[in-house]
Amino acid sequence: MSKKAILYSNTPPSRAQEKRFVDFLSKKYGESYSIVWKQTELPEGSFKLVVDSEVYDWSDEGRLLQFKERLSKLQFKDDNIIPLLKDAIEKWVPDIKAYEEGRVLTVGDGIATVSGLDNVCYGEIVVFSSGVRGMAQDLRPDEIGCVLFGDDSDIIEGSIVRRTGRVAGIGVSDEYLGRVVDALGRPIDGKGEIICDEYLPIENPAPGIIERQSVDTPLETGILAIDSMFPIGRGQRELIIGDRQTGKTAIALDTIINQRGKDVICVYVAIGQKASSVVQLVQNLKTHGAMEYTVVVSASASDPAPLQYIAPYAGCALGEYFMNKGRDVLIVYDDLSKHAIAYRSLSLLLERAPGREAYPGDVFYLHSRLLERSAHLNAERGGGSMTALPIVETQAGDVSAYIPTNIISITDGQIFLESDLFFAGQRPAVNVGLSVSRVGGDAQTKAMKKAAGAIRLDLAQYREMEVFTQFASDLDEATKRQLTYGQGLMQMLKQDQYKPYKQYEMVIILVVVLNHILQDIPEKDVKKVLRELLDHFEESYFEITERLENDGLLSDEDREEIIKVAKKFVEER
Ligand code: ATP
Ligand code: MG
Repeated sequence: MSKKAILYSNTPPSRAQEKRFVDFLSKKYGESYSIVWKQTELPEGSFKLVVDSEVYDWSDEGRLLQFKERLSKLQFKDDNIIPLLKDAIEKWVPDIKAYEEGRVLTVGDGIATVSGLDNVCYGEIVVFSSGVRGMAQDLRPDEIGCVLFGDDSDIIEGSIVRRTGRVAGIGVSDEYLGRVVDALGRPIDGKGEIICDEYLPIENPAPGIIERQSVDTPLETGILAIDSMFPIGRGQRELIIGDRQTGKTAIALDTIINQRGKDVICVYVAIGQKASSVVQLVQNLKTHGAMEYTVVVSASASDPAPLQYIAPYAGCALGEYFMNKGRDVLIVYDDLSKHAIAYRSLSLLLERAPGREAYPGDVFYLHSRLLERSAHLNAERGGGSMTALPIVETQAGDVSAYIPTNIISITDGQIFLESDLFFAGQRPAVNVGLSVSRVGGDAQTKAMKKAAGAIRLDLAQYREMEVFTQFASDLDEATKRQLTYGQGLMQMLKQDQYKPYKQYEMVIILVVVLNHILQDIPEKDVKKVLRELLDHFEESYFEITERLENDGLLSDEDREEIIKVAKKFVEER
């Protein structure tokens, strides 16, 4: 028995036309078809031929669609628009082309199941008749599950869904710098359209082993507690982890601000945050002159879960675009706990089996495939890098919960922020004992390495002694000195927001404090004296600061000189 194809047109086809269709179909599908004609209101000469789920559209609408597709593939620049358009119109010969259509079976909670899209692939974008886009996420034998990127109220059972043949992606170009966009790359800052050079899929395999080189250049955060003890290198992934309101975003923000003039492109991905916080953050970036080299990708708390789910991948694709051009990129994912939650709600709605903490089984892969895309590329690949600062929120300092342990094991170290420290006024509230940077050592300048010396050890000793001496009333002189020294160290690590230190400033501070020069300064004055001392160096010892900043080396003579000057300064004050 031959299969049936349905022909829609205004008037019935002639014998000759019918034969042409049958021949075309048997050639295309290798099977014999019979044509069933159905009358529809289409202009004279137009027809639609529907074979299973494929539609050959010869109506004006279909031709226009093809023309639009063709136009969208052209790359317009201001000066070539007229000749290109002329050329496109003259050369355009519409051909009969198949596209696939399916129908909505069920819809709700941002998920639609669709029947009929037999050839759709995982991650492909489909368009609903209301114009809303969706992404195929679940391929079952006779239906697919799609997540929706927009309002589902206009989608009803039976409405038409069309394949696009493209996986989810984001347009990329240099014009994104300074802009705020949503997870699909559409501008949301009201500054007009962004013209793209390329369209990149949001999911992209991570660079392989051969394509990488080891991390060897520092990415300075400007935060003393981090650069001295947990240095971050370009291409590294360093997790910022802590309870809510412990200054996680502040560290990422300060790092972005500190990249000013350092030729690093920054991408900040906001996932599931309040829209007002994102506005505030953009404002802060602007005030500190950091917006010109930064792109903000925002999927706020009110956006559908699918948009929150794809936002970090979209941001990563943007980062990769710059990395592949040989640039250094810093990307912040703020935060991945909310990302995991968005993915969990989406998975549960797609009826995937829940596992630990109700997260689906692939939640590790969710983040590992994202973070693995950060790399330091080798010279053949252009030598670019992408440094990732993922942020994770913990509950009551519990780092052993599911998502935190996953991400800790994927990243190259973590900066652990503690609310007790934060509320005691020790800000940034870095817990020195629990933080680590697993590749950073190579990515520290020689000067910093030499100056920082045994600071972690000193701090560890201080913490131990502090606990111990809480019970003792009278202490001997040596212990007292040790304690004041430790308190001085803690004071030194305090740093206000938006006040990044320069490299040479950090080196001077470290040399001065670690050599016990501020030993007799009262704890509350330490910060003030350090500031005055730095000003003193900047005014009168320009050569030293210049050498430190430019060469990244700390010679023994310079070190002695710094100690001498600082001693004199402290004595004379
Ligand atoms: P959330 O969990 O809400 O995302 P968070 O951990 O990202 O919070 P932030 O928003 O960065 O925390 O900081 C919380 C508050 O602490 C902010 O008001 C911020 O200005 C302040 N803060 C952060 N770091 C410092 C600092 N070093 N010195 C002074 N204030 C700071
Ligand atoms: Mg935050």
